[in-house]
Amino acid sequence: MGGSHRDSRSFFLPLTASGIKMSEICPMGAEFFKSKPDTDFMPLTHTKELFAKALKGKYALGAFNVNNMELLQGIVEACEEEKAPLMLQISKGARQYANPVYLKKLIEAAVSLSNIPIAVHLDHGDTFELCKDCIDEGFTSVMIDASHEPFEKNVEICRRVVEYAHKHDCVVEGELGHLVGAQFDDGEEGGNYSRSGHYTNPEEAVKFVRMSGVDSLAVAIGNSHGAYKFKGEQHLDLERLKAIKQALMDAGLGDYPLVLHGASSVPKDLVEEINRYGGKMGTDTAGVPEADIEVARRTGCTKVNIDTDLRLAMTAAIRKAFADNPKEFDPRKFLGPARTKVKELVRHKVRNVLCCSGHAFD
Ligand SMILES: [Zn+2]
Repeated sequence: MGGSHRDSRSFFLPLTASGIKMSEICPMGAEFFKSKPDTDFMPLTHTKELFAKALKGKYALGAFNVNNMELLQGIVEACEEEKAPLMLQISKGARQYANPVYLKKLIEAAVSLSNIPIAVHLDHGDTFELCKDCIDEGFTSVMIDASHEPFEKNVEICRRVVEYAHKHDCVVEGELGHLVGAQFDDGEEGGNYSRSGHYTNPEEAVKFVRMSGVDSLAVAIGNSHGAYKFKGEQHLDLERLKAIKQALMDAGLGDYPLVLHGASSVPKDLVEEINRYGGKMGTDTAGVPEADIEVARRTGCTKVNIDTDLRLAMTAAIRKAFADNPKEFDPRKFLGPARTKVKELVRHKVRNVLCCSGHAFD
């Protein structure tokens, strides 16, 4: 049983294949890495397999952004206990922050210590080269985000990534339409802020999927990145989501997997906790109501991205720990509670919002 649900795609290719100079990473240089045999890898699960099961079971996969050990541990522990399949996302910003090799090794540890299926996905790849690097490193899925380009150019860039990815047993997520909010450089948050978005058009979505060959599609239906998503009470355009899904179905593309970015709910209690302990988040924070995510899930949004809520959970716990124990200076005393808070949040998401608890071994 254990491990049989994973395919043999190796996330842990020899490090030399990633084009990274060992001497730049580790003071011990290449010798340290040479001591590891090339066959020493843990297999990841393919998102193709996870998506097919999620569509059939009408649940969504949580795609959680990671950039450090505590985040990763909190996410994986929650999903392990909930028996939930998991997608870990790494953005360009996370790779720059933590170094791709550190992230790989951290995930390798997480995979080896858990039994649940885990896929690794590049969030908001902005160039062919970045996508290629991740494919070469063994990611099971990459996103190429050329949604800021005109339609034809978006198709052309996606097409190139798809051709390379499919040759290497990797799947590709594209995006059509443009989300309001921060995008690109830091994955689900950060980078340039765009005030003007435009929604995904159902007919264009069909054309885009056909022409680009992408395996899943991120849609813009009123979702946005960051903690300040809406002015006042607003909702996703769920009718548009249904229309996109139907158009793809009518075009013979089947139960096509759609992806929802910027799907954090920005819980008020987390924002209040941050502000209670010295934070200065504005009163105009707003996320996607969890009831909307429920409907999106039932309509066929197979992958739901969550980053901002993880950041809020960590920040709330760290601020509280500092306020409660101002004399404390052991990082474990504030990073530990942060990890616990992340775990609680992820447990809530997979159990109550995404409904993927108990589906790890479908
Ligand atoms: Zn995103």
